[in-house]
Formats: sequence, structure tokens, C-alpha cells
Amino acid sequence: MQRKKILITGAAGFLGSHLCDRFISEGYYVVGMDNFITGDKKNIEHLLGLENFEFVAHDVTNFIELRGGLDYILHFASPASPIDYLKIPIQTLKVGALGTHNLLGLAKAKKARMLIASTSEVYGNPLVHPQTEDYYGNVNTIGPRGVYDEAKRFQESITMAYHRFHGIETRIVRIFNTYGPRMRLNDGRVIPAFLGQALRGEDLTIFGDGSQTRSFCYVDDQIEGIYRLLLSDYSEPVNIGNPNEITIKDFAEEIIKLTGTKQKLIYKDLPVNDPMQRQPDITLAKKLLGWEPKVERFEGMKITFEYFKSLTEEELYKSEH
Ligand code: NAD
Ligand code: UDP
Repeated sequence: MQRKKILITGAAGFLGSHLCDRFISEGYYVVGMDNFITGDKKNIEHLLGLENFEFVAHDVTNFIELRGGLDYILHFASPASPIDYLKIPIQTLKVGALGTHNLLGLAKAKKARMLIASTSEVYGNPLVHPQTEDYYGNVNTIGPRGVYDEAKRFQESITMAYHRFHGIETRIVRIFNTYGPRMRLNDGRVIPAFLGQALRGEDLTIFGDGSQTRSFCYVDDQIEGIYRLLLSDYSEPVNIGNPNEITIKDFAEEIIKLTGTKQKLIYKDLPVNDPMQRQPDITLAKKLLGWEPKVERFEGMKITFEYFKSLTEEELYKSEH
């Protein structure tokens, strides 16, 4: 039987590289695509040379040409951390809008099924808690985070339009904060930030008073949810995340225990439009996909800490921001 072929954009990033691993292990032929704007070649080095993996360096906001048939597309290319998308706002808007448009065009031409990586950020600073898929969200279109949130909202809209108008098979995953090995140490997200600070012997920086909440999902659970959603027949958005919610201050205390650091907590200004609460309602994913997260935070954080500990001194002290 011919292998199924899948295109994964954002392949050199955190989630994209784990998706490449998963689909390769399931026997797919994987084409990874990335322009390295926030990704790292190191994340896919172990795949280069495999007979069922191919890498294409390309910016998906430009026309995409692929030879031969294609069964699936996973569109994961996009800056994903607040400091990344604040630093490269136009590219963030373009990859969500123009990049998604190009990939939908490719899906149409190849009759491929396409799954897009949406986000809990489409709910903005949510007034409904926990967030269910039928909540329309509370986003400041013109705030600094708007470039990401609105790109993702547009991405969902154009995906549904291609589904309804052109009959393309589409899937939409709304990903809630996910963590694990291969996150970039200096991407500014709270887990690499706290672990990096602990490893360098710096104080842990809490933004605001730390009463804002997040719910952290381990990467293996997230990948399993995405895998099941792709193979399902459901075309509307599905939340995938871990409902175990914690305040950022309590989370910082957990990190102090985990790492054994002697450092203290220091407080900095809360970034503009930083959501005050976030917790996925995963009733739909449970019912539809028979999916729920399995990895407890202490367990996932231990693995993640081990990964960050294995980085070189140079990587640990390298700072782009
Ligand atoms: P990441 O920054 O590690 O990976 C994104 C990858 O996309 C990078 O390798 C980057 O170089 C690539 N990329 C960006 N623009 C591109 C372009 N124009 N052309 C080609 N490649 C491009 O981020 P991540 O955490 O792996 O996130 C992956 C996807 O999942 C993103 O779409 C993000 O919005 C979504 N998401 C992630 C989370 C999370 O918690 N990790 C939460 C919600 C949504
Ligand atoms: N945060 C923090 N200190 C840091 C980095 C982040 O207190 O050094 C906070 C941030 O303000 C937010 C939460 O941690 O309330 C999660 O931030 P992250 O950037 O990881 O993700 P997002 O805000 O996109 O959920």
C-alpha cells in the first residue's frame, strides 16, 4: 500500500517537530516545511536523511509548490510566543492570513485534508470560564496581541469558508498552553522563562501579581489530541488542552520546588491584554475523540526540566531578546 503523504508547516518548531516524529512513527511520508523565523534546525536534525522525511525551506506566505500527491496538511507555522509575535507582528499576521490562504489553495488543488493550529487566544481575555468552543471570545483587535489573536481568528474564518464553499476537508484545533522538550529557552513563554531563570540562578519574574491563571498541557497529550482530530470527521473547532488550572504565582512556587533554586520571585508589569484566566473545557474532545490528557504537570515538568538541563552553557546564556 502507498504511504500517506503529509505536509507539516512549522516543522522546525516545538509542536511541528513533535508532529513530524509522530507521523513518521505512524508510517507516513512527511514533508516538513519551515523558514526558521522562530524555529531551530536542531529540532529536526534527527529526521534528516530518513527515507520517509523530506525538508523544504520555504516561507509559506509565498506561493507553495509541491510535486505529486498529498493526503494531509498540518499548518503549524506561526510565531507562537508573545515576545515573538510582538517582535515580528507583520510576519505573524501574514503567516496566519496569507500562509493559510496558500495552504488552503494547495489543499484544494491536491484534494488534501487540512488541519490548522488555532489557539485559546481566539477567546482573548475570556469572560466565559472555562472556555467552551461556542464562546466567541473577547479580543482587543488593535492591542499588541491582536496581531496574533486576529490572525488566528481570520485563519479559522478562511478555513471554514474553504470548507463550506469549496468542500475542502478541514479540521481546527484550538490549542491551549502546551509545553515540553524543544521549547525555545528564550522564547519568553512562562515555562522556558522560569526554568531558564532557575538554571542561570536568576530570580523568577512574575508578570502582574501572579493571580492570572493558565492550564498547561504536556506535549505528548497535545500531539495525541491533534492526531485523533485529524483522523476524525469533525470540521468545527475543538479545544485540546489540559484543564488543570493554576495561578502563575503558584506555578512559580512549584518551579522553585522542582528546580531546587534558592532564588526568589520578583514582580514586573503585566503585559498589555494579558488574559487573566484560561482553562479549556474539553467535553467535546472527550466525546468526539475519546481523548483526555494523561500526563500530570509534575511529571511533564520533570521531563521538561531534564531537557533544559541538557542544553549547553552557550544555549542557556544565549539571549535574543
Ligand atoms: P514555534 O515558534 O516553536 O514553531 C513555529 C514554527 O513556524 C517555527 O519553526 C517557525 O520558524 C515556523 N514559521 C513561522 N512563520 C513561518 C513562515 N511564514 N513560513 C514557514 N515557517 C514559518 O511555535 P509552537 O509552539 O511550535 O507553535 C506551533 C503552532 O501551534 C503555531 O501555529 C501556534 O500558533 C500554535 N499554538 C501553539 C501553542 C503552544 O502552547 N505551543 C498554543 C496555541 C497555539
Ligand atoms: N509570565 C510571567 N513571567 C514570565 C513569562 C510569562 O509571569 O517570565 C506570565 C504571562 O504574563 C502570562 C503567563 O505567564 O500571564 C503565561 O505566559 P505565556 O507567555 O507562557 O503564554 P500566554 O500568555 O500566551 O498564555
